[in-house]
Amino acid sequence: MEPFAAIPISVDEALDRVLAVAHVLSVESVPLLEAEGRVLAVDLSSPIDLPPFANSAMDGYAMRAIDTTGATVDNPVRLAIIDRVAAGSVSTRHLTTGQAARIMTGAPIPAGADVVIPFELVREDPPGTLVVNMPLNSGNYIRLPGEDVTRGDMPLTDHMLLGPAALGLAASMGFARLPCYRRPRVAILGTGDELVPPGEPLLPGQIYDSNDYMLAPLARRAGAEVIFLGRAGDSEHAMQAVIAQSIAAGVDFIVTSGGVSVGDFDMIKEVLRVAGQIAFWRIRMRPGKPLAFGTIDGIPLLGLPGNPIAAFVGFMLFGRSLLRRMQGQTALPAFLSARCGEPIRNGSGKRNFLRGRATIADGQLVVRLAGGQLPSQLAPLVAGNCLIAAHEDRTQYDIGELIPILPLDDGSFQPG
Ligand code: AMP
Ligand code: MG
Repeated sequence: MEPFAAIPISVDEALDRVLAVAHVLSVESVPLLEAEGRVLAVDLSSPIDLPPFANSAMDGYAMRAIDTTGATVDNPVRLAIIDRVAAGSVSTRHLTTGQAARIMTGAPIPAGADVVIPFELVREDPPGTLVVNMPLNSGNYIRLPGEDVTRGDMPLTDHMLLGPAALGLAASMGFARLPCYRRPRVAILGTGDELVPPGEPLLPGQIYDSNDYMLAPLARRAGAEVIFLGRAGDSEHAMQAVIAQSIAAGVDFIVTSGGVSVGDFDMIKEVLRVAGQIAFWRIRMRPGKPLAFGTIDGIPLLGLPGNPIAAFVGFMLFGRSLLRRMQGQTALPAFLSARCGEPIRNGSGKRNFLRGRATIADGQLVVRLAGGQLPSQLAPLVAGNCLIAAHEDRTQYDIGELIPILPLDDGSFQPG
């Protein structure tokens, strides 16, 4: 065993080592409707101005501002309405002195006009004649070409996570497909002779496999395609065979759970040591100190502890970050700061990830513990909506003190 690996490293050091092996995957062209949650792989230069042409910001009338000089309620200006311009059509008329055109929102401003006045500020009297009773400033209610995005601007850049707003902008620039980093293929493997898939009867000594059913959606939420490798029993040989198979099948990342602690049947470390390289296997964190990470044939393998909470936390911190980095994302999941709603103790001397529930009080995030804190207890994670990260150097956080929290990536973080 590598000598350094025996010394537990900090969470931050572990994350650095995980990210050090992350290589960004290749680029593929993705249809816009399938690009949500993907990471853009180019600086996208706009081929057009947005808006592409001067257009009306309101339903109203277009005219020449100079014609309204000196207009008052007692001495209004009267203009002849000579055209009607709908969105999607272009006026063939050139407005001259004394003329106006009815115009709809988004319709191109007719030549000669330099101002729009909304319907509600004017009247037609008689129909066909516009009565304007105030002077107008040139440019009002006109959207200028390029005022949102100028041709050649790059409002969407390499490494950006594509959300609904970014996709809307890409569409308005006319892109039907976007170059995105490929999704990582993740193999998920549960280990342990005691595990049974849900739906089957439990024999004495058996439990249902729960980790695979948490890790798969967590990986998908991090942008991955998941390949289930099923469950390996507690046989190093069987495990090695399944892992070798998945590497041959071209997976980008292998995530196992169970089999990493110092028990008699803990073999992932051994598999890593024999077939690949161990980057670390002990972290100063709770839960989940026996967490192994390394590579086999250059493919990263994250060996999570079997305890469900430890597996969950380990994946949230390391698996998700690695997946994001493989897809070209530079930003990592961010911790927020919350005020302690109760004293939070940490006697462990390790980074202690506690199950918490954050709420908002007086506009501030306040966090409390969510139920029991054993690494085998899943229910508190469901009752909670975040992980509280008590630092290894702190034994207690008092009420009102700030503490970092990591929102759960499952939609439950709605502290309001
Ligand atoms: P291990 O890391 O293999 O020593 O497992 C630690 C604990 O986690 C044991 O109680 C296992 O039964 C449990 N465990 C391991 N894998 C899973 C799994 N996939 N689903 C639920 N519990 C598990
Ligand atoms: Mg086990």
